[in-house]
Amino acid sequence: MKIQEAKVFVTCPDRNFVTLKIITNEGVYGLGDATLNGRELAVKAYLEDHLVPCLIGKDPANIEDIWQYFYRGAYWRRGPVTMAAIAAIDMALWDIKGKVLNTPVYNLLGGKSRKGVMVYGHANGKDIADTIDQVEKYIDKGYLAIRAQTGVPGLANTYGTSEKDKMYYEPATRGLPQECEWSTEKYLNYIPKLFKKLREKCGDDLHFLHDSHHRLTPIEAARLGKELEPYHLFWLEDTVPAELQEGFRIIRQHTTTPLAVGEVFNTIWDTHILFTEQLIDYIRMSVVHGGGLTHLKKIAAMAEVYHVKTGCHGPTDVSPITMAAALHFDISINNFGIQEYMRHTEKTDEVFCRTDDVYKFEKGYLFPGDKPGLGIDFNEDEAKKYSYEPAYLPINRKIDGTLFNW
Ligand SMILES: [Mg+2]
Repeated sequence: MKIQEAKVFVTCPDRNFVTLKIITNEGVYGLGDATLNGRELAVKAYLEDHLVPCLIGKDPANIEDIWQYFYRGAYWRRGPVTMAAIAAIDMALWDIKGKVLNTPVYNLLGGKSRKGVMVYGHANGKDIADTIDQVEKYIDKGYLAIRAQTGVPGLANTYGTSEKDKMYYEPATRGLPQECEWSTEKYLNYIPKLFKKLREKCGDDLHFLHDSHHRLTPIEAARLGKELEPYHLFWLEDTVPAELQEGFRIIRQHTTTPLAVGEVFNTIWDTHILFTEQLIDYIRMSVVHGGGLTHLKKIAAMAEVYHVKTGCHGPTDVSPITMAAALHFDISINNFGIQEYMRHTEKTDEVFCRTDDVYKFEKGYLFPGDKPGLGIDFNEDEAKKYSYEPAYLPINRKIDGTLFNW
Protein backbone atom coordinates (compact mmCIF):
# COMPACT_ATOMS: atom_id res chain seq x y z
CA MET A 1 0.00 0.00 0.00
CA LYS A 2 1.26 3.46 -0.87
CA ILE A 3 0.18 7.00 -0.10
CA GLN A 4 -1.19 8.43 -3.31
CA GLU A 5 -2.57 11.81 -2.33
CA ALA A 6 -2.95 14.10 0.69
CA LYS A 7 -5.40 17.00 0.79
CA VAL A 8 -5.73 19.83 3.29
CA PHE A 9 -9.11 21.41 4.01
CA VAL A 10 -9.82 24.60 5.92
CA THR A 11 -13.43 25.03 6.94
CA CYS A 12 -15.31 27.28 9.37
CA PRO A 13 -18.47 25.60 10.72
CA ASP A 14 -18.77 28.19 13.55
CA ARG A 15 -14.97 28.21 13.96
CA ASN A 16 -11.93 27.36 11.82
CA PHE A 17 -10.59 23.82 11.47
CA VAL A 18 -7.72 22.44 9.39
CA THR A 19 -8.17 18.82 8.29
CA LEU A 20 -5.74 16.50 6.50
CA LYS A 21 -6.95 13.57 4.43
CA ILE A 22 -4.35 10.99 3.35
CA ILE A 23 -5.52 8.71 0.53
CA THR A 24 -3.82 5.43 -0.42
CA ASN A 25 -3.57 3.68 -3.79
CA GLU A 26 -5.99 1.06 -2.44
CA GLY A 27 -8.66 3.65 -1.69
CA VAL A 28 -8.35 3.54 2.12
CA TYR A 29 -8.04 7.02 3.61
CA GLY A 30 -7.16 8.46 6.99
CA LEU A 31 -8.02 11.77 8.68
CA GLY A 32 -5.92 14.05 10.84
CA ASP A 33 -6.59 17.33 12.64
CA ALA A 34 -4.06 20.16 12.00
CA THR A 35 -5.94 23.02 13.67
CA LEU A 36 -3.85 25.69 15.38
CA ASN A 37 -6.20 28.34 16.74
CA GLY A 38 -5.51 31.73 15.13
CA ARG A 39 -2.64 30.38 12.97
CA GLU A 40 -4.58 27.92 10.82
CA LEU A 41 -3.20 28.88 7.43
CA ALA A 42 0.41 28.55 8.59
CA VAL A 43 -0.14 24.83 9.25
CA LYS A 44 -1.99 24.41 5.96
CA ALA A 45 0.96 25.92 4.07
CA TYR A 46 3.49 23.89 6.09
CA LEU A 47 1.66 20.70 5.17
CA GLU A 48 0.96 21.49 1.53
CA ASP A 49 4.25 23.14 0.65
CA HIS A 50 6.72 21.11 2.70
CA LEU A 51 5.39 17.78 4.04
CA VAL A 52 2.84 16.41 1.57
CA PRO A 53 5.33 16.23 -1.35
CA CYS A 54 7.57 13.97 0.82
CA LEU A 55 4.62 11.83 1.88
CA ILE A 56 3.55 10.66 -1.58
CA GLY A 57 4.71 7.12 -2.35
CA LYS A 58 5.48 6.21 1.29
CA ASP A 59 4.02 3.06 2.89
CA PRO A 60 1.36 4.30 5.39
CA ALA A 61 2.05 1.30 7.64
CA ASN A 62 5.40 2.77 8.77
CA ILE A 63 4.01 5.28 11.24
CA GLU A 64 7.09 5.57 13.47
CA ASP A 65 9.46 5.99 10.55
CA ILE A 66 7.26 8.64 8.92
CA TRP A 67 7.02 10.51 12.24
CA GLN A 68 10.83 10.49 12.59
CA TYR A 69 11.22 11.49 8.92
CA PHE A 70 9.32 14.72 9.53
CA TYR A 71 10.71 15.39 13.04
CA ARG A 72 14.36 14.35 12.89
CA GLY A 73 14.49 14.75 9.14
CA ALA A 74 13.76 18.45 9.40
CA TYR A 75 16.70 20.50 10.61
CA TRP A 76 14.19 22.97 12.15
CA ARG A 77 12.46 20.94 14.82
CA ARG A 78 9.57 21.55 17.24
CA GLY A 79 7.23 24.55 17.42
CA PRO A 80 3.42 24.56 17.23
CA VAL A 81 3.14 24.80 13.43
CA THR A 82 5.57 21.96 12.77
CA MET A 83 4.14 19.71 15.45
CA ALA A 84 0.47 20.27 14.47
CA ALA A 85 1.38 19.32 10.90
CA ILE A 86 3.25 16.17 12.01
CA ALA A 87 0.38 15.31 14.38
CA ALA A 88 -2.16 15.51 11.55
CA ILE A 89 -0.13 13.08 9.43
CA ASP A 90 0.32 10.78 12.43
CA MET A 91 -3.41 10.70 13.27
CA ALA A 92 -4.30 9.96 9.66
CA LEU A 93 -1.80 7.08 9.54
CA TRP A 94 -3.19 5.50 12.74
CA ASP A 95 -6.66 5.90 11.22
CA ILE A 96 -5.52 4.08 8.06
CA LYS A 97 -3.84 1.31 10.07
CA GLY A 98 -6.99 0.73 12.09
CA LYS A 99 -9.10 0.58 8.95
CA VAL A 100 -6.68 -1.81 7.21
CA LEU A 101 -6.62 -4.11 10.26
CA ASN A 102 -10.37 -3.61 10.80
CA THR A 103 -10.04 -2.60 14.45
CA PRO A 104 -10.45 0.61 16.50
CA VAL A 105 -7.22 2.51 17.19
CA TYR A 106 -7.46 1.87 20.95
CA ASN A 107 -6.80 -1.81 20.21
CA LEU A 108 -3.59 -0.87 18.44
CA LEU A 109 -2.51 1.18 21.49
CA GLY A 110 -2.86 -1.78 23.86
CA GLY A 111 -6.62 -2.19 24.24
CA LYS A 112 -8.96 -0.76 26.86
CA SER A 113 -7.61 0.05 30.31
CA ARG A 114 -10.95 1.31 31.62
CA LYS A 115 -14.68 1.35 30.86
CA GLY A 116 -14.99 5.03 30.04
CA VAL A 117 -13.11 8.32 29.97
CA MET A 118 -14.04 10.79 32.72
CA VAL A 119 -14.43 14.27 31.27
CA TYR A 120 -14.80 17.76 32.68
CA GLY A 121 -17.04 20.51 31.36
CA HIS A 122 -16.69 24.28 31.61
CA ALA A 123 -18.89 26.36 33.92
CA ASN A 124 -18.34 30.04 33.08
CA GLY A 125 -20.16 32.72 35.07
CA LYS A 126 -20.01 36.50 35.23
CA ASP A 127 -19.68 36.31 39.02
CA ILE A 128 -19.74 33.67 41.79
CA ALA A 129 -23.53 33.29 41.88
CA ASP A 130 -23.70 32.96 38.10
CA THR A 131 -20.89 30.37 38.07
CA ILE A 132 -22.73 28.32 40.70
CA ASP A 133 -25.81 28.36 38.42
CA GLN A 134 -23.69 27.14 35.52
CA VAL A 135 -22.10 24.41 37.67
CA GLU A 136 -25.59 23.18 38.55
CA LYS A 137 -26.42 22.85 34.85
CA TYR A 138 -23.44 20.54 34.44
CA ILE A 139 -24.43 18.53 37.51
CA ASP A 140 -27.88 18.10 35.95
CA LYS A 141 -26.26 16.81 32.76
CA GLY A 142 -24.40 14.17 34.77
CA TYR A 143 -20.88 15.61 34.84
CA LEU A 144 -18.63 14.36 37.65
CA ALA A 145 -15.93 16.99 37.07
CA ILE A 146 -16.41 20.68 36.30
CA ARG A 147 -14.00 23.50 35.58
CA ALA A 148 -15.29 26.63 37.33
CA GLN A 149 -14.32 30.10 36.07
CA THR A 150 -15.78 33.41 37.12
CA GLY A 151 -15.68 37.03 36.06
CA VAL A 152 -13.89 39.22 38.59
CA PRO A 153 -15.63 42.34 39.97
CA GLY A 154 -13.94 45.47 38.67
CA LEU A 155 -12.62 43.80 35.51
CA ALA A 156 -14.53 44.27 32.25
CA ASN A 157 -13.79 40.75 31.03
CA THR A 158 -11.94 37.76 32.42
CA TYR A 159 -10.56 34.60 30.82
CA GLY A 160 -13.03 31.73 30.72
CA THR A 161 -16.25 33.69 30.99
CA SER A 162 -18.78 33.91 28.17
CA GLU A 163 -21.33 36.57 27.33
CA LYS A 164 -23.87 34.68 25.26
CA ASP A 165 -24.60 30.96 25.32
CA LYS A 166 -23.11 29.88 28.65
CA MET A 167 -22.59 26.27 27.54
CA TYR A 168 -20.37 27.31 24.62
CA TYR A 169 -17.24 29.28 25.39
CA GLU A 170 -15.38 30.57 22.34
CA PRO A 171 -12.65 33.16 22.92
CA ALA A 172 -11.54 33.57 19.28
CA THR A 173 -13.05 36.60 17.56
CA ARG A 174 -13.41 37.47 13.88
CA GLY A 175 -11.39 40.47 12.77
CA LEU A 176 -8.49 41.77 14.85
CA PRO A 177 -7.78 40.51 18.40
CA GLN A 178 -10.11 41.59 21.18
CA GLU A 179 -8.33 43.34 24.08
CA CYS A 180 -8.98 42.08 27.61
CA GLU A 181 -8.21 43.67 30.97
CA TRP A 182 -6.39 42.04 33.87
CA SER A 183 -5.56 42.53 37.54
CA THR A 184 -3.75 39.71 39.35
CA GLU A 185 -4.60 41.34 42.71
CA LYS A 186 -8.36 41.36 42.09
CA TYR A 187 -8.23 37.81 40.69
CA LEU A 188 -6.29 36.35 43.62
CA ASN A 189 -8.62 37.97 46.14
CA TYR A 190 -11.79 36.65 44.45
CA ILE A 191 -11.11 33.07 43.32
CA PRO A 192 -10.85 31.36 46.76
CA LYS A 193 -14.33 32.77 47.56
CA LEU A 194 -15.73 30.96 44.50
CA PHE A 195 -14.48 27.56 45.62
CA LYS A 196 -15.52 28.12 49.23
CA LYS A 197 -19.09 28.75 48.02
CA LEU A 198 -18.98 25.84 45.57
CA ARG A 199 -17.98 23.36 48.28
CA GLU A 200 -20.66 24.75 50.63
CA LYS A 201 -23.28 24.40 47.90
CA CYS A 202 -22.20 21.18 46.16
CA GLY A 203 -20.53 19.10 48.88
CA ASP A 204 -17.29 17.14 48.70
CA ASP A 205 -17.84 14.60 45.94
CA LEU A 206 -17.70 16.69 42.76
CA HIS A 207 -14.35 17.25 41.11
CA PHE A 208 -13.61 20.95 40.64
CA LEU A 209 -10.93 22.33 38.38
CA HIS A 210 -9.71 25.85 37.74
CA ASP A 211 -7.56 27.46 35.04
CA SER A 212 -5.40 30.55 35.73
CA HIS A 213 -4.46 30.70 32.03
CA HIS A 214 -0.80 31.50 32.54
CA ARG A 215 -1.54 34.74 34.44
CA LEU A 216 0.53 34.28 37.63
CA THR A 217 4.13 34.29 38.77
CA PRO A 218 5.32 31.22 40.71
CA ILE A 219 4.93 32.86 44.13
CA GLU A 220 1.44 34.15 43.23
CA ALA A 221 0.54 30.64 42.07
CA ALA A 222 1.88 29.27 45.36
CA ARG A 223 -0.44 31.65 47.27
CA LEU A 224 -3.47 30.62 45.20
CA GLY A 225 -2.71 26.92 45.52
CA LYS A 226 -2.34 27.28 49.28
CA GLU A 227 -5.57 29.22 49.68
CA LEU A 228 -7.46 26.66 47.60
CA GLU A 229 -6.22 23.67 49.61
CA PRO A 230 -9.32 23.48 51.88
CA TYR A 231 -11.51 23.02 48.76
CA HIS A 232 -9.36 20.11 47.41
CA LEU A 233 -9.39 20.89 43.72
CA PHE A 234 -8.90 18.12 41.17
CA TRP A 235 -6.31 20.47 39.66
CA LEU A 236 -5.16 24.04 39.37
CA GLU A 237 -4.22 24.59 35.74
CA ASP A 238 -1.77 26.79 33.84
CA THR A 239 -0.78 28.94 36.80
CA VAL A 240 2.40 30.19 35.14
CA PRO A 241 3.61 29.96 31.55
CA ALA A 242 5.87 26.93 31.78
CA GLU A 243 8.46 28.20 29.32
CA LEU A 244 10.64 28.21 32.43
CA GLN A 245 9.95 24.74 33.78
CA GLU A 246 12.04 25.41 36.89
CA GLY A 247 9.44 28.02 37.97
CA PHE A 248 7.23 25.17 39.14
CA ARG A 249 9.73 24.32 41.90
CA ILE A 250 8.58 27.37 43.87
CA ILE A 251 4.88 26.52 43.49
CA ARG A 252 5.47 22.90 44.45
CA GLN A 253 7.35 23.82 47.62
CA HIS A 254 4.36 25.72 48.94
CA THR A 255 1.16 23.89 48.09
CA THR A 256 -0.44 20.45 47.94
CA THR A 257 -3.05 21.57 45.38
CA PRO A 258 -2.51 19.31 42.32
CA LEU A 259 -1.00 21.14 39.35
CA ALA A 260 -1.71 20.76 35.62
CA VAL A 261 0.04 22.39 32.69
CA GLY A 262 1.05 21.77 29.10
CA GLU A 263 -1.74 22.57 26.63
CA VAL A 264 0.66 24.75 24.62
CA PHE A 265 3.59 22.31 24.80
CA ASN A 266 4.68 20.64 21.58
CA THR A 267 7.24 17.96 22.47
CA ILE A 268 8.53 15.81 25.29
CA TRP A 269 11.37 18.33 25.70
CA ASP A 270 8.89 20.83 27.14
CA THR A 271 8.12 18.43 29.98
CA HIS A 272 11.29 16.73 31.12
CA ILE A 273 12.10 18.92 34.18
CA LEU A 274 8.45 19.01 35.22
CA PHE A 275 8.34 15.20 35.09
CA THR A 276 11.71 14.20 36.47
CA GLU A 277 11.44 16.58 39.46
CA GLN A 278 7.76 15.63 39.99
CA LEU A 279 6.70 19.29 39.79
CA ILE A 280 3.27 18.64 38.25
CA ASP A 281 0.48 16.09 38.56
CA TYR A 282 -1.20 16.28 35.13
CA ILE A 283 0.18 16.88 31.65
CA ARG A 284 -2.25 18.68 29.33
CA MET A 285 -0.87 18.10 25.83
CA SER A 286 -3.41 17.25 23.14
CA VAL A 287 -2.99 14.83 20.24
CA VAL A 288 -2.94 17.66 17.68
CA HIS A 289 -0.52 19.98 19.49
CA GLY A 290 1.59 17.24 21.05
CA GLY A 291 2.89 15.62 17.87
CA GLY A 292 0.16 13.02 17.37
CA LEU A 293 -0.53 9.67 19.00
CA THR A 294 3.00 8.42 18.31
CA HIS A 295 4.59 11.19 20.36
CA LEU A 296 1.89 11.49 23.00
CA LYS A 297 2.09 7.83 23.99
CA LYS A 298 5.83 8.28 24.63
CA ILE A 299 5.11 11.37 26.74
CA ALA A 300 2.51 9.44 28.74
CA ALA A 301 4.98 6.59 29.27
CA MET A 302 7.61 8.99 30.59
CA ALA A 303 5.00 10.75 32.75
CA GLU A 304 3.93 7.43 34.28
CA VAL A 305 7.41 6.87 35.73
CA TYR A 306 7.10 10.16 37.68
CA HIS A 307 3.50 9.74 38.95
CA VAL A 308 2.16 12.23 36.39
CA LYS A 309 -1.22 11.53 34.79
CA THR A 310 -2.72 12.86 31.57
CA GLY A 311 -5.43 15.48 31.13
CA CYS A 312 -5.62 16.17 27.40
CA HIS A 313 -6.59 19.65 26.25
CA GLY A 314 -10.03 19.43 24.62
CA PRO A 315 -11.37 22.88 23.71
CA THR A 316 -13.61 23.54 20.72
CA ASP A 317 -10.58 24.62 18.69
CA VAL A 318 -9.37 21.04 18.45
CA SER A 319 -11.57 19.28 15.91
CA PRO A 320 -13.70 16.19 16.56
CA ILE A 321 -10.86 14.21 14.90
CA THR A 322 -8.53 15.15 17.76
CA MET A 323 -11.28 14.40 20.28
CA ALA A 324 -11.81 10.94 18.74
CA ALA A 325 -8.05 10.29 18.74
CA ALA A 326 -7.76 11.51 22.34
CA LEU A 327 -10.45 9.08 23.49
CA HIS A 328 -8.67 6.10 21.90
CA PHE A 329 -5.52 7.26 23.70
CA ASP A 330 -7.26 8.01 27.02
CA ILE A 331 -9.00 4.67 27.24
CA SER A 332 -5.85 2.70 26.46
CA ILE A 333 -3.18 4.13 28.77
CA ASN A 334 -2.89 3.31 32.47
CA ASN A 335 -1.96 6.80 33.73
CA PHE A 336 -5.00 8.56 32.32
CA GLY A 337 -6.26 11.35 34.58
CA ILE A 338 -9.15 13.19 32.94
CA GLN A 339 -10.19 14.55 29.53
CA GLU A 340 -11.36 18.11 28.86
CA TYR A 341 -14.62 18.17 26.89
CA MET A 342 -16.10 21.26 25.32
CA ARG A 343 -18.91 20.19 23.04
CA HIS A 344 -18.70 21.25 19.42
CA THR A 345 -21.62 22.99 17.74
CA GLU A 346 -24.11 21.09 15.57
CA LYS A 347 -22.58 22.58 12.42
CA THR A 348 -19.14 21.31 13.41
CA ASP A 349 -20.52 17.86 14.24
CA GLU A 350 -22.19 17.70 10.82
CA VAL A 351 -18.99 18.54 8.94
CA PHE A 352 -17.11 15.83 10.88
CA CYS A 353 -20.00 13.32 10.74
CA ARG A 354 -19.81 13.20 14.54
CA THR A 355 -22.58 10.99 15.93
CA ASP A 356 -22.88 8.86 19.08
CA ASP A 357 -21.27 6.04 17.06
CA VAL A 358 -18.05 8.09 16.96
CA TYR A 359 -18.05 8.99 20.65
CA LYS A 360 -20.81 9.51 23.14
CA PHE A 361 -21.28 11.16 26.53
CA GLU A 362 -22.99 9.27 29.35
CA LYS A 363 -23.06 9.98 33.09
CA GLY A 364 -19.85 12.00 33.20
CA TYR A 365 -17.87 9.80 30.83
CA LEU A 366 -17.07 9.80 27.12
CA PHE A 367 -16.89 6.51 25.28
CA PRO A 368 -14.98 6.03 22.02
CA GLY A 369 -16.83 4.13 19.31
CA ASP A 370 -15.88 0.68 18.03
CA LYS A 371 -15.58 1.48 14.34
CA PRO A 372 -12.23 0.67 12.67
CA GLY A 373 -9.55 3.36 12.84
CA LEU A 374 -10.43 6.60 14.63
CA GLY A 375 -14.07 5.99 13.68
CA ILE A 376 -14.65 9.51 12.43
CA ASP A 377 -15.31 10.91 8.95
CA PHE A 378 -15.25 14.25 7.15
CA ASN A 379 -18.00 15.51 4.82
CA GLU A 380 -16.19 17.49 2.12
CA ASP A 381 -19.40 18.88 0.59
CA GLU A 382 -20.62 20.12 3.95
CA ALA A 383 -17.18 21.61 4.71
CA LYS A 384 -17.22 23.59 1.44
CA LYS A 385 -20.25 25.54 2.68
CA TYR A 386 -18.14 27.26 5.36
CA SER A 387 -15.09 29.05 4.05
CA TYR A 388 -12.20 30.18 6.28
CA GLU A 389 -12.82 33.31 8.34
CA PRO A 390 -9.78 35.07 9.84
CA ALA A 391 -10.06 35.01 13.65
CA TYR A 392 -7.75 35.70 16.57
CA LEU A 393 -7.53 34.77 20.22
CA PRO A 394 -7.63 37.89 22.44
CA ILE A 395 -4.69 39.77 23.85
CA ASN A 396 -4.53 40.90 27.46
CA ARG A 397 -3.40 44.11 29.18
CA LYS A 398 -3.00 45.02 32.84
CA ILE A 399 -5.15 47.91 34.07
CA ASP A 400 -2.26 50.34 33.46
CA GLY A 401 -2.00 49.19 29.84
CA THR A 402 1.01 46.86 30.15
CA LEU A 403 0.76 43.98 27.69
CA PHE A 404 0.33 40.72 29.60
CA ASN A 405 -0.27 37.02 28.99
CA TRP A 406 -3.61 36.02 27.54
MG1 LIG B 1 -5.61 25.95 30.19
